[in-house]
This record gives sequence, C-alpha cells and structure tokens, in this order.
Amino acid sequence: MENNEESTTTNDVEKESPFDSLGISQESVEKFLGDRDRYDQSKQVCICGHAINKHSKYEEGYGMCITGRHYCPCKQKNPVLYSNDTRYFMRKTYGPGSKHALSAGLLRLRQVKKKAYWLEEPACWNPNCESGNPLIFPVALDKSSRVINEPGPINVLLCETCILNMKGVPGNEGKGWIW
Ligand SMILES: [Zn+2]
Ligand SMILES: [Zn+2]
Ligand SMILES: [Zn+2]
Repeated sequence: MENNEESTTTNDVEKESPFDSLGISQESVEKFLGDRDRYDQSKQVCICGHAINKHSKYEEGYGMCITGRHYCPCKQKNPVLYSNDTRYFMRKTYGPGSKHALSAGLLRLRQVKKKAYWLEEPACWNPNCESGNPLIFPVALDKSSRVINEPGPINVLLCETCILNMKGVPGNEGKGWIW
C-alpha cells in the first residue's frame, strides 16, 4: 500500500517542460544552434560592417558590397561576426572607430536588443604589432594602407597604437585621439 502511494506521488510531479523528458540539456541545444549560426554565411557580417550576403561576385574577382543605401568598395570579403539578424548592418563608414560602419551596426543591434558574436576575439591585425594595447578599433584603409575617413577597399581591426603610428602621431596613446 505504501509503495503504491509513493509511485502515484512520483507520477504526479509535473515536469517543468516537455523538454525535461528528453536526455538533452538547454545548454546542448543552445550550443548546437550557436555553432550552426556561426558557420551559416547568411548570418555573418564582414569587417566592412555589412552582411556577407550583401557581397556578391567576389569569387569571380570583381566583388561588390551593396547595401540598401550605398555601394561599399570592400575588396576583401572577410566575416568577423555572426548575428541572427544582420539587417542592422547597413551603415556607411565615416572614419575609424566609432565612425566605422561596423561600430554603427553593432550599436544599432544592441539598441534593438539583438545579439552578435565575434568569430574570433578582436585583436590588432597588424602582424608586426607588439604594443599589447587592448583598445581595438575597426578601420577603413585605402589602397596604400592609409587610414581614411570614408568607405575603403580594405577594412581591418587595429589597436590604438598602430593607428596612431599609421597616422604619423606615435606616442599619443590614451588621449582619446582614436575613439
Ligand atoms: Zn565587406
Ligand atoms: Zn561593405
Ligand atoms: Zn597594433
């Protein structure tokens, strides 16, 4: 009699969700979905600040990055982020750092409470960089690798020190010149 009661009680315990009846965890499903999005090109964003799916003809050698509002001269399609909503990456670059299309897109995404993830943790892309400066900014460069204040064919992540060096004003770290 006692045994019988016990088993009835156990069966009556309500499961929180149908999910709980399976041998899976929330974390494992989230990990799968995250990994799937990571390699899904339609969710990736280029270093130029625009969705990878706005880039066309790169394989043919004359690539174009065109968002609703403008033509971007991006020559090196290079995914750095993935997001489940890339529609907010439509801005134009007006300079490095806060003025770069990637920064504007990321802020917009945060304002609408959507998420994006780096494919690789941001670091200075200058192969000769030894600064250890943790301030990393997106930067548009022209064909001669000069930092420019407009959309450029090359876009990179650089540390504050490398940007100051390229602009010919070394030694001015921490003054808020790059922001
Ligand atoms: Zn691009
Ligand atoms: Zn672009
Ligand atoms: Zn650097």
